[in-house]
Amino acid sequence: MLVVQKYGGTSVGSLDRIKAVAEKIASTYKEGNRVVAVVSAMAGETDKLIGLANQLSQNPDEREMDLLLSSGERISAALTAIAIRQVGLKAMSFTGRQVGIITDEVHTRAKIERITAERVKKAVEEGVIPVIAGFQGITEKSDVTTLGRGGSDLTAVAVAAALNADICEIYTDVEGIYTTDPNIVPEARKLEKISYDEMLELASLGAKVLQTRSVEFAKKYNVPVVVRSSFSDNPGTLVMKEDKEMEKVVVSGVAYDKNQAKITVIGVHDKPGIAAKLFNSIAEANIIVDMIVQNVSSDGKSTDISFTVPKVDSKKTLNITKGIVTELGAKSVNLREDIAKVSIVGVGMRTHSGVAAKMFETLARQGINILMISTSEIKVSCVIDAKYTELAVRVLHDAFELGEK
Ligand code: ADP
Ligand code: ASP
Ligand code: MG
Repeated sequence: MLVVQKYGGTSVGSLDRIKAVAEKIASTYKEGNRVVAVVSAMAGETDKLIGLANQLSQNPDEREMDLLLSSGERISAALTAIAIRQVGLKAMSFTGRQVGIITDEVHTRAKIERITAERVKKAVEEGVIPVIAGFQGITEKSDVTTLGRGGSDLTAVAVAAALNADICEIYTDVEGIYTTDPNIVPEARKLEKISYDEMLELASLGAKVLQTRSVEFAKKYNVPVVVRSSFSDNPGTLVMKEDKEMEKVVVSGVAYDKNQAKITVIGVHDKPGIAAKLFNSIAEANIIVDMIVQNVSSDGKSTDISFTVPKVDSKKTLNITKGIVTELGAKSVNLREDIAKVSIVGVGMRTHSGVAAKMFETLARQGINILMISTSEIKVSCVIDAKYTELAVRVLHDAFELGEK
């Protein structure tokens, strides 16, 4: 088998951890597999580098940030290769550029356009274990890019697809994918398997166990992904195509996201073209808008529009919106950062009714006010006051009976 193994920040968080990872890789290799490893920066390293840049500038240039942040993964890749050599196997570390991970030019959240992987393929053929620095790529113009937070997951899945690997194993600090974050709800239950679509929703709604784009990629190229712990030998969770059994479960998980902010534009003209103007201006700045709520105007003249954006983009969005207030005919704009989004996800929702009502009722019973609601075929999300996040996750997990039986 050809196995791609990705090790996250905690898994390579110290030299002892790197030695343990080298042992794990070596034992997979010795079982007769070919192994390609992908590693994250050591735990806390990326945040530390961001902190350094922020001490120099409130708004550091994104191209420079990418070169800075890509260094975290280089360190752990080289150290891991050294550790593997130390246990007697051949290993070589590679940067994103050396692997030929070509991306677009959107710094700090670049998209992979293609992967050549020639150098890595050759290494594998020669019995070498390549250790790839995750999270990074290179533009056609030779500028270093990064793939967004958690982007080493994407490196792993994309490399697995490019090499036609039999499996992509994501090693992390929990035993698999759970019904909700096990660090918040200890009763959370580990899932044996989950569909790409459900995982895609959970990830995009905040479950950072897998980066959203990595799941999109896995689904598109049909890469079988297993999430498991680097601290044990337990089996983990398989992310795969939906099967009949999965539909029977109405709600399979609860997710939360504290990284969103809500912007409300008050009193905009109720006429065609206003929403287009507003959201075009935001899109031009490459900012991704998540939820949008527009009220029906009661007087036929003016209405309010609320929407959410990633917290890192909130100030930028506020400024853009303020800049076009007169064009929108709006009275004012306000920003709230102390919000969170809690969501329930399940493919069974397609065929069951009353799920949303039960969610609202559960939150109401705790006196939690809902600020915004959005739904899709397989999810319901509510924006609430951030201080109730953990409580909301726990009561929803309980109400939908997701815990250990
Ligand atoms: P890594 O550094 O290995 O990439 P991450 O911190 O990115 O690890 O992701 C693992 C974390 O994801 C867990 O420690 C857990 O707190 C969080 N998490 C959130 N939702 C879930 C979930 N449904 N199942 C498992 N872990 C989850
Ligand atoms: N080191 C990067 C981050 O912290 C990428 C990753 O860990 O996947 O976001
Ligand atoms: Mg991660």
